[in-house]
Amino acid sequence: MARVLIIGAGGVAAVTVKKCARLTEHFDEIYLASRTVSKCVALQEEVGKDRVKGVYALNADIAAEVEAVINEVQPDLVINLALPYQDLPIMDACLATKTDYLDTANYEPKDEAKFEYSWQWAYQQKFQDAGIMALLGSGFDPGVTNVYTAYAAKHYFDEIHYLDIVDCNGGDHGQAFATNFNPEINIREITQRGRFWEDGEWKETDPLSVREDLDYQNIGVRASYLMFHEELESLVKHFPTLKRARFWMTFGEAYLTHLRVLEGIGMTSIEPIEYQGQQIVPLEFLKAVLPNPGSLAEGYTGKTCIGTYITGVKDGQEKTIFIYNNCDHAACYEEVGAQAVSYTTGVPAMIGSALMLNGTWKKPGVWNMEQFDPDPFMAMLNEHGLPWHVIECDSPFKR
Ligand code: NDP
Repeated sequence: MARVLIIGAGGVAAVTVKKCARLTEHFDEIYLASRTVSKCVALQEEVGKDRVKGVYALNADIAAEVEAVINEVQPDLVINLALPYQDLPIMDACLATKTDYLDTANYEPKDEAKFEYSWQWAYQQKFQDAGIMALLGSGFDPGVTNVYTAYAAKHYFDEIHYLDIVDCNGGDHGQAFATNFNPEINIREITQRGRFWEDGEWKETDPLSVREDLDYQNIGVRASYLMFHEELESLVKHFPTLKRARFWMTFGEAYLTHLRVLEGIGMTSIEPIEYQGQQIVPLEFLKAVLPNPGSLAEGYTGKTCIGTYITGVKDGQEKTIFIYNNCDHAACYEEVGAQAVSYTTGVPAMIGSALMLNGTWKKPGVWNMEQFDPDPFMAMLNEHGLPWHVIECDSPFKR
């Protein structure tokens, strides 16, 4: 009998809870814990008490609080869908209780926007010694994009050389400015310097200063900007034949204009300021006034297209393939009441969890997605709402 404890009750968690609830063969009992327990209660009422057996209030910044809930629930797996700040305390609680762990985003310290796996990879020996497993980054990007790369390397190439991950949201939510997942985490990521891997080293660019106009399947041409994304770090480590690895994301002009203005007046800063005798962080305040990403779902039109272009060599011949998924915002709303960005993250979190629980992806230690056989994950993507396609094509990128 498999029992999971899901931590967090935001946009992504709502999708994972609903998807897990349907998969009775993998998830017998679901428990939910988050900071604002009323959100857990609302989800429990929506999904049913027969599937979500219990809810808990907890501050996951404090490992002892997480440990107490784990001890009460005794789950086989903790699915961390809170924020990246909570990754380490939740991993500590999993270690203390010898419980498996999964997340969708790498740890970040709150006072510094620094995206790297070093903190979580440092748990490798401790998790191995405890005989437990951590699966890192089981969302879409990171997550599915790592699995796409592993699938390409396994089935299409002898060696892979060039990797470009492309993330396009071709949807329209009708708001002047909003982010599609947690605004604080999203804006911290976008306002960083760009970084990509080339010829054995990391190279930096000014934030959103490198642009390519790319043609996305079933969407059309969109301005795409080079930025750093965490899966690049694990992919270049695990595929050392890569000569270059980059990540691109689309942004519309209106979005960029709002961002520039907000940045220009200091609203995206994570340095605390004094306001009426209190310390506040401007970006946290901005998050509080921006639309909740979950609220964008109703009436959201259009699709996402996220995929990986991979160029490599097979039998001495160079070729390029593109593996991608299109996800329709309105279809996600109809199925689970969510928009496509929450959906494309919440479904892979469910799939990674199912594969851990049924022993298909199971070994003690701390692992990234591309370190496992991609085939069972790819099969489940097709079965659970994120079908993928592979095309052989010319690379749209210059060498
Ligand atoms: P939301 O802000 O909607 O949800 C976060 C949830 O975590 C909220 O319920 C929040 O509680 C809870 N939470 C925050 N802090 C704590 C805490 N200290 N203790 C307990 N609970 C806490 O975010 P999303 O659902 O949009 O994103 C969830 C995660 O998914 C993030 O880590 C994000 O980076 C990641 N993500 C990954 C993607 C991928 O493709 N890999 C893509 C998109 C997101 P409260 O309700 O009180 O605020």
